[in-house]
Amino acid sequence: MYNYIFGPVSSRRFGLSLGIDLSPEQKSCNFDCLYCELKPAKVTDSVENPPAADAVLEEVRRALEEFPDIDVITITANGEPTLYPYLDDLVTGLNRIKGDKKLLILSNASTIAEPKIADILSEIDIVKLSLDCATKTCFKKIDRPLKGVEIARIVEGMKAFRKRYDKALIIEILVVAGVNDKEREMEALAKVLAEIKPDRVDLGTIDRPPAYDVKGVSTERLKVLSAHLGRQNISIMHKEIPQEKVDFSEDEILATIARRPQSTSDVAYLFSENAQKELERLFHEGKVVKQNIAGVDFYTLPKQINQKEK
Ligand code: SF4
Repeated sequence: MYNYIFGPVSSRRFGLSLGIDLSPEQKSCNFDCLYCELKPAKVTDSVENPPAADAVLEEVRRALEEFPDIDVITITANGEPTLYPYLDDLVTGLNRIKGDKKLLILSNASTIAEPKIADILSEIDIVKLSLDCATKTCFKKIDRPLKGVEIARIVEGMKAFRKRYDKALIIEILVVAGVNDKEREMEALAKVLAEIKPDRVDLGTIDRPPAYDVKGVSTERLKVLSAHLGRQNISIMHKEIPQEKVDFSEDEILATIARRPQSTSDVAYLFSENAQKELERLFHEGKVVKQNIAGVDFYTLPKQINQKEK
């Protein structure tokens, strides 16, 4: 029986994950996102009745014995985990006991410009930050933050964090129909992503009923929007299987990958059986290589990896 641990749950992007909920009693968040799956609650910048770090660590220790095969320990909350007041002690303790597991945090990025939070997050193996919009109007409309939380400061905080953080930085964009589903919003995001330089961008949409009456977009629409995000390693959430898969030739496969690395799930989603065989052949011949970015495999060209390493 656990109070602060949930799972393990299997996630396509991170493997088998053991979750930690730092606000188990009620939602504690400084955002009120239109797509949030939690019951709406007043925005706040603190966690009510936060659990002691030692109590959480004790449960993690027990859970690690019970579930030795997990891949990641995910720090999350019924809300925003960086509002948890003992995060520093918790991360230090988790790093001591995690063994070969990775530590991951899922944050809405609202606090990333705070030096103390950036210091703590720099001790975590994988940091995943939300960035749904880069413009002020769109950000306020979709994420509905606590007064004083500004997108410009968040973006500056992300850029500064990237400069000091050489582990896996992932940015997540969640698309809501009629709010941030326009090409111009993606182009504004592309500009800041080019400066933030994340290792991976996860592009998704609503797939479970949200608290408010908003809708997601189709996988096809996500694909179209992804083309406006610039040259990033983009992992697209696939909800539906397309009616027709594409029979790419060798040249077409190489051109597609040269434009943007393709995740293994992009390939399963779009490539015909023949095209997948052709891709495997190119992989075995070394014309295409695989690169694992925080748990997701991407097909890319050898020279693209070399360029990034320079
Ligand atoms: S940041 Fe997360 S928990 Fe907070 S409102 Fe948005 S979706 Fe919900």
